Amino acid sequence: MIGRIVVAAVWLVFGVLAGQGAALASSPDAPSDKLLAYAARIAGDDARTRIVIDFDQKPDFEVRYIASPDRIVVDLPATAFGFAADTLAPTGLFSDIRFGSMDDASARLVLTAARPARLVTAEAVENEDGKGFRLVLDAELVPQQDFAALVAAQAWTPAAAPPPIDPAAAPVDPAASEFVIAIDAGHGGIDAGATGATSKTAEKDITLAFAKVLHDKLAKQPGIRAVLTRDTDRFLSLSERVVVARQKGAQLLISLHADTLRQGDIRGATVYTISDKASDHMAAQLAERENFSDTLGGVELPAETAEVNDILLDLTRRETQAFSISLAQAVVGSFEGQISLINNPHRHAGFRVLQAPDMPSILLELGFLSNKDDEALLLDPAWREKVADLLVEAVRRYRAPLVANGG
Ligand SMILES: [Zn+2]
Repeated sequence: MIGRIVVAAVWLVFGVLAGQGAALASSPDAPSDKLLAYAARIAGDDARTRIVIDFDQKPDFEVRYIASPDRIVVDLPATAFGFAADTLAPTGLFSDIRFGSMDDASARLVLTAARPARLVTAEAVENEDGKGFRLVLDAELVPQQDFAALVAAQAWTPAAAPPPIDPAAAPVDPAASEFVIAIDAGHGGIDAGATGATSKTAEKDITLAFAKVLHDKLAKQPGIRAVLTRDTDRFLSLSERVVVARQKGAQLLISLHADTLRQGDIRGATVYTISDKASDHMAAQLAERENFSDTLGGVELPAETAEVNDILLDLTRRETQAFSISLAQAVVGSFEGQISLINNPHRHAGFRVLQAPDMPSILLELGFLSNKDDEALLLDPAWREKVADLLVEAVRRYRAPLVANGG
């Protein structure tokens, strides 16, 4: 079993890797009055692009530049967006535009630059008729080195250091009397995830609804405490999800998803564990899409750290990996013959949310929103109950030999 000192060391390393990941635990109380952004427009070409967003009140905002990929991030107070996403379709200098909530107190606009750009104008202007304000953002093409200089010149630093380490509080022991399982509802806030082919339901809502059902079922199991990484429609970066799970003492992480594939005929559940090399093309594509969540959420990724040559960490990783695989097999075993599974239902790829070196983790694609049969099931409360029951059974199977061996 993994010693506490090792866990502390691992957590130290992971805390560094997690970078800005820890900022979320204390979001201030939700302000009662959100701003309303009620209309927007975009126009421009490869050299200049203008975005205008109409607000009911004057928006305070802050602009930041982030590299790799190059993005302009506009942070806003809590805002209700009353216009459709395609109102701000990628145009001119921008290849991707997202807006949405970050948490109860903040919202964000993320402009991914097709070519390096900077805002030459960023101002909230009162409308001439005295009704509301418009946020005017004028972007202009700049040389790549100028964009890099903008990024470098920012005094912006990650909001919080990794949480303090209390090794005694976080022993990884699958046979402990209280077994803590983190359920991670994929996507959220500005990152809606996939969209149902027929119902247009957002993946972030499906994962949250499912997570709550699973949470309640697991919580009823003796000796098990279930925690959610998010219980509202908010954005969490991938490393924040891991940090939150660890802060809550989780010994296991289950990340829930329901993505789309280009092949609409493919359906069924898939269980993923982490690996450097993807098991197949589909797994690689899915991991890339899941990892893109940080990009569209305006998250600054920590610079690639040098490979950590720590033998203890390596051993911990290997042990964690073995537990992750064992959990994946338990889930497949529990699902078999009960719900639809895709061929080779246990696959692996480089999902960033599964990166905790000391917390066994799986990512579960419950089904695919690109398949209409799967979509109907994903929206069916009875199916949700059934799958949650099967997952409870899987956790029991996973844990049984560990408990029997006394950990
Ligand atoms: Zn997803």
